Amino acid sequence: MPLTLRTVACLSDNYAYLIHDPATGATAVVDVPEIAPIEAALTAEGWTLTDILITHHHHDHIGGVDGLRAKTGAKVTGASADAHRLPALDRAVAEGDTITVGGETGHVLDVSGHTMGHIALHFPDSRLVFTADSLMALGCGRLFEGDAPTMWASLSKLAALPPDTLVCSGHEYTAANARFAVTIEPDNAALRTRADTVATARARGEATVPSMLSEELATNPFLRASLPEVKAVLGMPGATDAEAFAEIRHRKDRF
Ligand code: ZN
Ligand code: FE
Repeated sequence: MPLTLRTVACLSDNYAYLIHDPATGATAVVDVPEIAPIEAALTAEGWTLTDILITHHHHDHIGGVDGLRAKTGAKVTGASADAHRLPALDRAVAEGDTITVGGETGHVLDVSGHTMGHIALHFPDSRLVFTADSLMALGCGRLFEGDAPTMWASLSKLAALPPDTLVCSGHEYTAANARFAVTIEPDNAALRTRADTVATARARGEATVPSMLSEELATNPFLRASLPEVKAVLGMPGATDAEAFAEIRHRKDRF
């Protein structure tokens, strides 16, 4: 039986995610921006938290970890590469390691770029990937610590997952990302349609995450940097994929 997913809005524009294995009752939260909305969601579902999974060290993703651990006794898992700047870890993991939530196995991917040591968690049987500030809906995280080739390699790993994977990312940035994306590919019909859908959803106060990987592949300019038509509109027909990605990221930073 696949994991049950709940999206939990936190702080001003963050998302945490609850995943629950109905067979065993095991329940994990991916990132803890703050405690109260996560506790409320657990109570509403009648779930007992067993695991806290951390994607990266930024405060808006870990600010509530120690408090939630103290209240629930949940075990905390995060990247070994980030152990020096994360709350105390019960388990430190790296790419290639697996984690379990009840009967479901998740695979750890290193998706460094936004930060070095940022991990994503892929649950293939449930078709879920938790990407936080690496791959985002119509965007990607800013390059605070990694360079463009590093982030491009990270995004390429995520792009290679099955297209029917649900991308569970860390922020509600999609409307602004859409306004930028159409400046890169004004003639991408799928992008135009998605930008309208996103604007309508936000006008209603609805979340625009999670999103389907197939939709990101069709519309997210940061995943499309390798395409000849995208390099052409950038005026960089001979560029490497990472160079084209770097140019799109640079334009977004100035947008
Ligand atoms: Zn971050
Ligand atoms: Fe963040």
